[in-house]
Amino acid sequence: MNLIATGAVWWKKLHWQILIAMVIGIGAGMIGGEPLADNVEWIGQLFMKLLRMVIVPLVFTSIVAGVASVGSGRAVGRLFSKTLGYYVLTSLLAITTGLILVNIFRPGEKTDVANAIQADMPDIRTPSSPVDILMDIVPANVIEAAAGAQMLAVIFFSIILGLAIVGLPEKPQTTLRNFFDAAFQAMMKITTGVIMVAPIGVFGLIATLVGRTGFETFGALGLYMFVLSLGLTIHLFVTLPLVLFFLGRINPIIHFRNMIEPLVTAFSTASSGATLPVTMQTVETRVGVSNRVSSFTLPMGATINMDGTALYECLGAIFIAQALGVSLGFTDQVVVVFTALLASIGAAAIPSAGLVVIFIVLEAVGLTGAGPAFIVGAMLAIDRPLDMFRTAVNVYSDSCGAAIIARSEGEENVDTHVVT
Ligand code: ASP
Repeated sequence: MNLIATGAVWWKKLHWQILIAMVIGIGAGMIGGEPLADNVEWIGQLFMKLLRMVIVPLVFTSIVAGVASVGSGRAVGRLFSKTLGYYVLTSLLAITTGLILVNIFRPGEKTDVANAIQADMPDIRTPSSPVDILMDIVPANVIEAAAGAQMLAVIFFSIILGLAIVGLPEKPQTTLRNFFDAAFQAMMKITTGVIMVAPIGVFGLIATLVGRTGFETFGALGLYMFVLSLGLTIHLFVTLPLVLFFLGRINPIIHFRNMIEPLVTAFSTASSGATLPVTMQTVETRVGVSNRVSSFTLPMGATINMDGTALYECLGAIFIAQALGVSLGFTDQVVVVFTALLASIGAAAIPSAGLVVIFIVLEAVGLTGAGPAFIVGAMLAIDRPLDMFRTAVNVYSDSCGAAIIARSEGEENVDTHVVT
């Protein structure tokens, strides 16, 4: 009320519009069901296409401009080590949370998997080894990598180009720096435009999802869903805020409020990749992180830093073992922890990718064959809401990393207040 009286009309703010669109989408989906879903599906798809449209040029120009402004190879190396250190730390914290919860609640032992509804595996490529992931980083053909949105390869080439620019004599260096800076600003402008239509897009995505989902599907795996959601909630609302506070001296409430738009977008799209433009725009304009840091931490983070997925890989794999009556000893659980980290790094930033890479973890502890595959099929049938939640956690961790690293680089303007 007060807000309206002072002239700041709350519903004109984009994050409120997105939240309201989500609520309307849920209501419309519940009432309209399948027929409504068929009619509004295109709205969500169009929004996803707009987001995907900006990803590659935005990431490319942002990283080249960012690295070129870092100034030296040594400074890039320092940022790189901090970023990787943060990724590994928070992913391991997430995995530990999953490990503890799955051992306390033991959802697999109390689940009637045989009666759960099954779904077919989507066709998503999974890297099968660390060497595979490494091979994905170096593109044989940059244009092909960009066309196929192979993000690690695009990031790699952008960093190399940025470093090459830093090594040029002054004149061409300034020309290229100015060019990439300007191109990056243009991409941010396009992104801002796309974000303006987010409420409509979010409505389309959520209404379609709710309209198509029968809630009876969730029954058999209810306890598993509860334990996983509890783990994600703890990571989002306890662990990451503590990390923000202790490593970055950042007020977690301010950071959370600044990040509402990317969080809702991640939740609605279930894709950290599609959310990346919104994350980059928000982290720079609201959280207050420089392009120098955010261009380095966010695209790489969206691709390899997935805390929610990491938690899920560990919890899901042990859940499957429990459901099959296989008891995993200490050594096996340690193997699960490290392969879960690897699987989360290898998972693509798209819907359902986390579920597909769970086979990496299962294989590492000898859970192969029809039994585990059957349970993964059942997990897939109820995966969407869990995917939405873990994607939001994935994106949030990236943003916390950007804020913390910016602070450690002496940036003073990070999360000083809530930007509305
Ligand atoms: N959908 C997730 C993401 O894009 C990955 C996953 O399935 O866990 O971040």
